[in-house]
Amino acid sequence: MAEYIIETAKGKWEVVVGLEIHCQIISKSKIFSGASTEFGDEPNTNVSFVDAGMPGMLPTLNKECVHQAIKTGLGLNAKINKYSEFSRKNYFYADMPTDYQITQFRYPIVGEGNICVDLSDGSTKNIGIERMHIEQDAGKSIHDLSPTKSFIDLNRAGVGLMEIVTKPDFRSPEEAGAFLRKLRSILRYLGTCDGNMDEGSMRCDVNVSVRPYGSNEFRTRCEMKNVNSVKFVMQAIENEAKRHIEVYENGGTVEQETRQFDPSTGLTKVMRKKEFAHDYRYFPEPDLPPLILTDEYIDSVKNEMIELPDAKKQRFIEKLGLTAYDAMVLCENKEVADFFEKAAAGHDAKKVANWMMSDFFAMLNKKHLEISQSPVSAENLGALVELISKEVISGKIAKDVFEIMSETGENPEKIVEEKGLKQVTDTSAIEAIIEKVIADNPDNVAAYKNGKTNLAGWFVGQTLKLSQGKANPQIVNKLVKEKLDN
Ligand code: ADP
Ligand code: MG
Repeated sequence: MAEYIIETAKGKWEVVVGLEIHCQIISKSKIFSGASTEFGDEPNTNVSFVDAGMPGMLPTLNKECVHQAIKTGLGLNAKINKYSEFSRKNYFYADMPTDYQITQFRYPIVGEGNICVDLSDGSTKNIGIERMHIEQDAGKSIHDLSPTKSFIDLNRAGVGLMEIVTKPDFRSPEEAGAFLRKLRSILRYLGTCDGNMDEGSMRCDVNVSVRPYGSNEFRTRCEMKNVNSVKFVMQAIENEAKRHIEVYENGGTVEQETRQFDPSTGLTKVMRKKEFAHDYRYFPEPDLPPLILTDEYIDSVKNEMIELPDAKKQRFIEKLGLTAYDAMVLCENKEVADFFEKAAAGHDAKKVANWMMSDFFAMLNKKHLEISQSPVSAENLGALVELISKEVISGKIAKDVFEIMSETGENPEKIVEEKGLKQVTDTSAIEAIIEKVIADNPDNVAAYKNGKTNLAGWFVGQTLKLSQGKANPQIVNKLVKEKLDN
């Protein structure tokens, strides 16, 4: 992988990044109450007494959230801890009525793991996962509806979160971006988080430090909270690294602080310094027993695991002969991978991949459609490729057929039949056309015979044109040479 080195007049620097990602768990109800997790409902309609922090209410752990967390841990190639426990993280905030968050502190449910990320030069890199714990989300404060008031929506309060903490393994904005895309892909395959950063269901804290290129030290880091798109995460890393370098090169020291990324400028500004860091006074949650998992239960979740993007990509490369790049693109989204496999079944998989990567995706883009809304079904795309493989139609005619398929949704055999687009492979019919082209163009024939042999291509072109693209190009090529040379 090409190294990301930041070079200034004074020297070379390397960036060091670790991410903490909050992922909303997909579950019908909240992690410690029975209220619905539905996104976008009327404010404060999905709030139980537990979520509202009413005195005397007791939390009950939602088994589905635990199940989802174990699945995710397995997807991160991580150790599932049979013993974990919940703690109270105490702080005051208006959108958290209990004044404490129930989270996992000393003993998280998931331990060390790793994710393999795909980089733009075709290489891959393993990023270490430090841990993953489960906790409850806070509510939402809304400050932009009134000039004088703030509003609170507790629908989100108590929704289950998985917090994934990586090791400080990233050395470039690109690696962090690739990691987030891969993580999102895995979570969506698993169905444990929808990964929508713009809706806040995946939120990223970005820790950045720099060090002189070639050194192995870990310098003071700053943390940017809740950066809400992959692009912004990459921008935050780039600009925060530059800020640190400037501080060091001017003889200063970087102070550990929490900063905020401003999407409108791409820059970061200080939120709080370390001396104002919270003292959360963590202690074991008295209302919940430790969470103890049996081997049988963990094994039963293992048995439910489906093929994840890396394994699928490897299989597409090894068993179906795809290039690493095509396999990576087709495996990022499970629906796309499933569509591809259905289309490729029994046909030339590489050709099907080519069609998906070019005309098919271009068509979806142009029509602003999701793959589930595609007018061209997987079966019909496979059938189109089969018609090309069997030389029933040429690649060129296939583009026209595809165009009609994407308008009408019809199957390609029917279109080819009805429009009379079958390729002409009958040599006598092709010979007749070539003879006509030769008879109509004596000057070019003479020029060819006088040594301008590249005119053969012109004769081929004319013949294909006269056949309305239906003559088999290989046969035309062969016959044109034979006729001109005899
Ligand atoms: P804390 O316990 O203070 O939150 P952690 O050790 O949990 O600190 O680290 C939080 C995040 O910061 C992790 O994602 C980690 O990879 C990252 N991190 C730690 N040290 C550095 C560093 N020197 N530069 C950049 N990121 C770092
Ligand atoms: Mg931390």
